[in-house]
Amino acid sequence: MGRVYNFCAGPAALPEEVLQEAQAELLDYKGSGMSILEHSHRGKEYDAVHQEAVSNLRKLMALPEEYAVLLLQGGASGQFAMVPMNLLGEGQVADYVNCGAWSTKAIKEARIVGRVNVAADTSKDIPTRMPDPATWKLTPGAAYVHICSNETIAGAQFREFPRTDAPLVADMSSDILSRPFDIRSFGLVYAGAQKNLGPAGLAVVVLRKDLAARASERVPIFFRYRTHLEENSLYNTPPCFAIYILALVTRWLLRQGGVDAIARRNREKAARLYAAIDGSGGFYRGAAVPEYRSDMNVVWRLPSEELEERFCKEASAAGLKSLKGHRSVGGIRASIYNAFPPAGVDALIEFMREFQRKNG
Ligand code: PMP
Repeated sequence: MGRVYNFCAGPAALPEEVLQEAQAELLDYKGSGMSILEHSHRGKEYDAVHQEAVSNLRKLMALPEEYAVLLLQGGASGQFAMVPMNLLGEGQVADYVNCGAWSTKAIKEARIVGRVNVAADTSKDIPTRMPDPATWKLTPGAAYVHICSNETIAGAQFREFPRTDAPLVADMSSDILSRPFDIRSFGLVYAGAQKNLGPAGLAVVVLRKDLAARASERVPIFFRYRTHLEENSLYNTPPCFAIYILALVTRWLLRQGGVDAIARRNREKAARLYAAIDGSGGFYRGAAVPEYRSDMNVVWRLPSEELEERFCKEASAAGLKSLKGHRSVGGIRASIYNAFPPAGVDALIEFMREFQRKNG
C-alpha cells in the first residue's frame, strides 16, 4: 500500500515534501556526517534549525516585538497547567469559557492552581457550538480569560475573537496557522504541535513578554515562562528533532504562500465537505451548528451507529483512514488540517456519495 489519506485528529498528516526532506537528510545532515538527531543542541547546526523555527513562526503570525515564541515540552496538556501556574496569582480569578472536552480539561487543571470562574458553558450542547461572547459572564479584574479556539472533538470553531479587558489566552492546538489572526487580541496562545505544526510532545507558546514576569518565585524554575523566555527555549535540551520538523513544516507553509493562502485552501476544502453533508438530503447530518462549524475537524452523523461503523470500515479499506469520531461524540470526524491535500477531500466526498447510494 502507498500513502493513504490520513484523517486522524492528531498526530495528523504532515506534508509529504517535509517527510521526504527529513528522510533525505536523516543520515548526514548538511554534510556534517551525522544526523540532526545526534547534534548538540548548543552546536551551530542545531542552532540554525532552532532560530529558523522561531523566525518562521514569527513571520507566519506577523508577531510584533512585544511577543515571544517559546518551544516547550509536554504538549498542549502541559500548557493547561503552565498557564495558571504562571498567570493566576494569589487571590485572583481566571475566567474560562468551556466550549468542549479540551476546555474542560484546561479548567480541571486550573482549578488545582487557583480560583476559576466558568464564564460560559456549551460543553454539553448538541449540536455542538461555541458560546456567543455576548453571553460570557466575565469577572472584573480577572487574571485572564481562557478559550479554546477550535474544539477538536466537537468540530466547533470560533470564527472571530472578542476583545477582552483581561489578557485573552487561547488553546489553538487544532487551528494554529490555519487562518490569520491578530495576536494583539491575545495575551498568550499555545498549541500542541501534532496537528498543524509537526510532531507530538512539542508545544508552541506565543506570549506577550510582560506576562512572563507574573509567575511567583514559588513556581518551579522549569515551569516558569520567564525561564524559557530568557533562554530562548534553550534552558535545557529542547526536543530537537520535533523542532527540526517544525522548521521544515513552517518553511513548507511559507512556500505555500503563508497563512492567508493556506486559509483560502482550508476554507475551500471544508466548504466542499460541508456542502456534501448538507446536500445529502439528511443522510449525513453535521454535528455543529453552521455558524460555528470548524474548518479543521468536520464532524457528522449517519442515520445509525451501525452505518457509521460500516462507513469507517469501508472507508478504511478504500485508503481513507482514521475517520471514526471521538468516542464521546460518535459519528464521523474528518480532520483536514493544513497539510491534508484537497484531493483527499474529493476522494472522501466521492466515497460518501457511493456509500449513500448503496445504503441510503
Ligand atoms: N487541546 C486541544 C484543542 C487538542 O485537540 C488537544 C489534543 N487533541 C489537546 C489540547 C491536548 O494536546 P496534547 O496531547 O499535546 O497534550
